[in-house]
Amino acid sequence: MAERPYIVGNWKMNGTRAMLSEARAIDRASQRLMKVEVALAPPFTLIHATHKEVEQIGVGAQDCHAGEEGAHTGDISAGMVLDAGAKFVILGHSERRQDHGESNDIVRQKVEAALAVGLRIILCCGESAATRDAGTAEDFVTAQLRASLPQSVASHFEASPETLTVAYEPIWAIGTGRTPTVADVSAMHRAIRATLVDLYGAEHGANVRILYGGSVKPDNATELLSADEVGGALVGGASLSAENFLGIVMAAV
Ligand code: PEP
Repeated sequence: MAERPYIVGNWKMNGTRAMLSEARAIDRASQRLMKVEVALAPPFTLIHATHKEVEQIGVGAQDCHAGEEGAHTGDISAGMVLDAGAKFVILGHSERRQDHGESNDIVRQKVEAALAVGLRIILCCGESAATRDAGTAEDFVTAQLRASLPQSVASHFEASPETLTVAYEPIWAIGTGRTPTVADVSAMHRAIRATLVDLYGAEHGANVRILYGGSVKPDNATELLSADEVGGALVGGASLSAENFLGIVMAAV
């Protein structure tokens, strides 16, 4: 695993202010677990409140618009989430790609916009069940990654080596309770690592953390985190309860 594993909770469209108690509990426990970097991406409506409530953990957004401002009813820009207290943004999640028709081009523009205001990026990639069954998962995921990452990422590594994190999330594993084998996770993460080294060179490409996401739970976290090139986890459902999420964080210590 990475020197300092990164465990990130994605609350998706869950949570009202009552959920801030979970964020506080996660934050308190994380203060004693400094070997792991812990972060939460609540819905937009809770970013500022979460940022105000926590001391140790990172707070981020689950998406942002590619534009700076303007006539985009209902959208939120990178500068706005930064202003609300977010330090990172999850981009290219498969639910955004599916529900909102986000293409690699759109994701790449969003990455540009987020980098321009100084947000760190968690870029998601992952194949469908049909692609996995067809035996083309690695080709699909590495092509998706190349097409979603702008050239400009490279210019941010000197000042901020942690500017980019990649999350491999097989779509068929998200929220289903199904997970790939450790061998399959290892093979995919090695392919992603090789792509990052090809794109950014040995020094920077080797340092990008690659998270695994998809039905990570306290009882399978140790196994999934033991796969090659896994630098942490992106956690959906299990991040909604401090107890479950902290069980995963403990597995990364
Ligand atoms: C996710 O959608 O980012 C995710 C990993 O969800 P879950 O943990 O619920 O599978």
